[in-house]
Amino acid sequence: MITRSAYRQAQQRAAQLLRQIGIALRDAELEAIAVADFGLGELDESGAQILTLLDTAEIAAKLIVLFPDQTLPEHRHPRLGDYPGKAETLRCEWGVVYVYTPGPATPNPLGHPPNHRRGTYTVWHETVLHPGQQITLAPNTLHWFQAGSQGCVVWSFSSRAVDVQDVFTDPDIVRVTVIEEEGR
Ligand code: ZN
Repeated sequence: MITRSAYRQAQQRAAQLLRQIGIALRDAELEAIAVADFGLGELDESGAQILTLLDTAEIAAKLIVLFPDQTLPEHRHPRLGDYPGKAETLRCEWGVVYVYTPGPATPNPLGHPPNHRRGTYTVWHETVLHPGQQITLAPNTLHWFQAGSQGCVVWSFSSRAVDVQDVFTDPDIVRVTVIEEEGR
């Protein structure tokens, strides 16, 4: 749950960063930035701001803004019937992002998910992406990522996105953001 004002604030902060780094975006796109708190109510630690540029039955293109040290929690994009699941390429546009996937655990990883949720982070093979670097994830691959201390802007290019079907490791997560309307 997130309050309407916190939601708006996160939208505006993300929009400001996207404008500042010079990506050509329309006002309507910036106003439609989705804020995901994953139902955890701790947006600064666990969350993401997502601008969808293209979302069809075949492909999706999104910009993901993470604030400093903000973590997008561990999840995978499962098979859905005949669809093998979302294959996703993450490309860093600005800042630094630490991406974690299955494989040998990286000693002394740079990422540090919220302490009280640490047990829900199970893959620790680290890839550090700087601007212009990217990683491609096969469908159903567990992954999570965290911004460096300045935040980050990351492109997500993928096959069909079905966000509500994403499977998160943390059982407390609810993918649909619930906005709490404040006093009248
Ligand atoms: Zn993903």
